[in-house]
Amino acid sequence: YMAKIPQAPPDRILGLVNQFMNDPNPSKVDLTVGVYRDNAGNVPTFKSVQNAQHLLHTVPSLRKDLSYLPIIGHPNYRNKVLNFLFHDGCPEIGPEIIYQDRVSFVQTLSGTGALSVTARFLSNFISDSIIIPQLSWANHANVFKNNGFRNISYYPYYSNEKIVLKDWLNHLINIQKTDREVTSNSKPSCILLHACCHNPTGLDPTKEQWDQILDTIYDLNLIPIIDMAYQGLESGDVLKDSYLLRKVLNKKRYKNWKNGIYLCQSFAKNMGLYGERVGSLSIILPETNSGNKSTSIRENIDSQLKQIIRSMYSSPPGYGARIVSLILSDKDLKDQWFLDVKEMVDRLNDVRYKLSQKLNWNSIIDLNQQHGMFYFTNLSPIQVERLKNQFAIYLTTDGRLSLSGINDLNVDYICNSILNVL
Ligand code: PMP
Repeated sequence: YMAKIPQAPPDRILGLVNQFMNDPNPSKVDLTVGVYRDNAGNVPTFKSVQNAQHLLHTVPSLRKDLSYLPIIGHPNYRNKVLNFLFHDGCPEIGPEIIYQDRVSFVQTLSGTGALSVTARFLSNFISDSIIIPQLSWANHANVFKNNGFRNISYYPYYSNEKIVLKDWLNHLINIQKTDREVTSNSKPSCILLHACCHNPTGLDPTKEQWDQILDTIYDLNLIPIIDMAYQGLESGDVLKDSYLLRKVLNKKRYKNWKNGIYLCQSFAKNMGLYGERVGSLSIILPETNSGNKSTSIRENIDSQLKQIIRSMYSSPPGYGARIVSLILSDKDLKDQWFLDVKEMVDRLNDVRYKLSQKLNWNSIIDLNQQHGMFYFTNLSPIQVERLKNQFAIYLTTDGRLSLSGINDLNVDYICNSILNVL
């Protein structure tokens, strides 16, 4: 059997990082991975995180042993993140949802872990079909495929520098119709939505378009999985950027999402905690008819999540969760975190602006319509290949460029090289 195992294709992004590391060219530039770098090219530790680290190491009552965390996560982390997402992020409806005990919440191994637990849970109990945007983070299909999903398809998202909303909605309506007619498939499908800063295009629907999209999804009984990996990187304000969560919870518009809403959230980018693997999954349950608490359903779901996590990795890591819960517990640290996010987004916007000035690139997307960590250049795979081979500048094949890899020292080299391959 072993000799028959085929080689898996390399990860589209991490494979390139390996090539970059082995490239001897002294001018090489890595613009592949979504990791924020400052103008000196370093991955900074946020001031809020540094302060929290200092407290963890020096305040005796905060010092902890290295024992296991509970399967569903650090108790204070669970409490604080739940509050942050639903009280602070959704003040109109969040507190009521928490009061009604309608959120099954677990600490996860960052956003990828949240998506994996979601996929395992849904495929065990509710659905093994998902529709992903036709341009998306390469790992989405991989995560769902390797966690029990048998049916992965794509909806049109982007063409000719724009979001193709009409095609998107028509596609959803048509496939639901075909499903019912051809297969009489009564199981609902899931749909993956990027909460903001769509990866890779950096283009998100407008607020009005989201209303239309969510109305359609709701009418078709699709199950929303919200991937919130870049909260704060659109506007520089983490609370403002949870608008999709606020919209999907809008009680006046949607009576009840019958099979729940799945929010996969990450502190990798917006707190710079990449390698610490800190995130969460919130499953928001429908309201009971009587308006009573949903405790028993929630407890059943909690127990299943526990069993899934126990089988995957037993329990999550502790250090990052302690940092997050400290930052969310202390007003000064939290304020500092908000400033840290703002500073990062200001620099990303500054790089975006410099690029648009230097490239003066009329035929390509208006840089300023996009937001987040990336610039989606629309360069062809051949042009991307030439950038790599001739100039040792590494982008992902789809033409996505990680903005913060650009700094005062290399901006001219990068812009001249791009102009050269055009
Ligand atoms: N979703 C999207 C769209 C992403 O771009 C990423 C990170 N690149 C993730 C989820 C997950 O990241 P992490 O597991 O590091 O939180």
